[in-house]
Amino acid sequence: MLDYIPIITPINYLNTPIDILRLDLIHPLYGGNKYFKLKYNIEKARVSGLPVLTFGGIHSNHIFSTAAYCHEYGISCIGVIGGDEKVGQFSPTMIFAKDHGMQLHFITREKYRTKTETSFLDELKKKFGEFYLIPEGGGNHEAVEGCKEILTSAQEKYDYIFCACGTGSTYAGLKLAAKADQIVIGISVLKGENTLIAEANKWLKEFGQQPISEYKGQLVDHSTILNEYHFGGYANYDQQLIDFKFEVENWFGIPLDYIYTAKLMYAVFDLLNNDRLKKDAKILIVHTGGLQGNKAYEARYQLIPIL
Ligand SMILES: *Cc1c(COP(=O)(O)O)cnc(C)c1O
Repeated sequence: MLDYIPIITPINYLNTPIDILRLDLIHPLYGGNKYFKLKYNIEKARVSGLPVLTFGGIHSNHIFSTAAYCHEYGISCIGVIGGDEKVGQFSPTMIFAKDHGMQLHFITREKYRTKTETSFLDELKKKFGEFYLIPEGGGNHEAVEGCKEILTSAQEKYDYIFCACGTGSTYAGLKLAAKADQIVIGISVLKGENTLIAEANKWLKEFGQQPISEYKGQLVDHSTILNEYHFGGYANYDQQLIDFKFEVENWFGIPLDYIYTAKLMYAVFDLLNNDRLKKDAKILIVHTGGLQGNKAYEARYQLIPIL
C-alpha cells in the first residue's frame, strides 16, 4: 500500500484562497480516489486468494485503476466490460488494462444492465470460477472505509470540503471523516432526481451517521450533494465547460478531467461567484484524478484545446 502524504496545491480565485487536495498525484497509475476505494478491496482479495472480478465501461477510471493495482500486487483480475469488443478493444483504457494483465470479457449493453443479478453472477462463476467481486465503479463498504482515509488531521482547518460524485461512496467517506462542523459538499456528475443523496445516506447510515438532505440556496451550515452542475449528465458537456477546463489548466496549472473534476471546479467557482458560501471560509477541493480518460474523451468529441 502507498505511504499516503496529502499534497496540496494552493490557488486563489476572486481573492478567495482555495486549497486543492491532489489525489491525482499520489500514484501515476492508480492514484485519485480509486486508490482509496480499492485499497481494502484489494487487501481482501489478496487474503482470499481469489481473482478480482469487476465491471466497467470501455473508458472507465475504475477499470484502469483496478488493472494497475492488481498488476502491482500480482493479483489476477477480470474486467467485465459493457460495450462492443470490436470498438472497445481499441480504447486506451482497454489497451492499458489488457497490457497490465486484466482479462477482458465484453458483454452487450443489455446484458450489462443485469450485472447485479444473481443469475448473471452465477453465469460468470461458471465461466471464471470463484472470484472476489467489486461492483461497478467500485462503490462498496470497503470503498467507503478506504475513503475515510483521504482526510487527515491537517484538513481539520477547512470550513468546506468539496468533491465530485459518481456513486457517492467517496463523498460518504469524506463526510464520515470530517468533523461535525465541517461542511462537505458533493457535486453530482449524473443527471437524475437526487438518487445520489439516497446512495450516500445508505453508507452514512451503515456507518452510524445522520443522513444528509437536499438543499438549495446558500450553503452555510448544510452538507449536501448538489445536482445543479451535471451539464446534462454523465460525460456530457457544453462549450462553456470545455473553455472553463482549459482556462483553469492555464491559470493554475492544474490538469482536470472532463467527467468529474472540471464540473467540480466549475461548481465551486460558480458558488463563489453567486455568494452562496460563507465569507472568508477556508475551502478544500478534493481532486479525485481521472486524467487517464482525457485522451479518449478528446478523440471521441473532437475537443481541441483553445491554446
Ligand atoms: C470514480 C471517480 C469519481 C466518483 O467517485 P464515487 O465514489 O463513485 O462518487 C470522482 N472523480 C473521479 C476522477 C473518478 O474517477
